Amino acid sequence: MPVPETPEEVRRWFLAQVQRLWPVAGGSLSLRKSPCIRPRCAACATGEQHASYVLYGHRAGRRFARYVPDELARELEQALANGRTLQALILDAGERYLRARKAQRRP
Ligand SMILES: [Zn+2]
Repeated sequence: MPVPETPEEVRRWFLAQVQRLWPVAGGSLSLRKSPCIRPRCAACATGEQHASYVLYGHRAGRRFARYVPDELARELEQALANGRTLQALILDAGERYLRARKAQRRP
């Protein structure tokens, strides 16, 4: 049987992984259509309106929405992907930590 990891080894593995996950973000990115404030705007008059990216999320049960400039949308997508990877990493870390702590309890 292989030598079990120590909690310290799990910590170092986790921190090394986390370092690569920057930028990080939670929530979701979507394209929202809304009218503008310009008078006699052709796009608004036809009902086409204006598309812009919005970051949606929940914090303590409250929804938030933040405008995202077009040129930052790709970057934010990457940050959200990193956020999902981080969640999966936390699950793995918890299991590995528990296994390492159990191994320490054995006489
Ligand atoms: Zn408009």
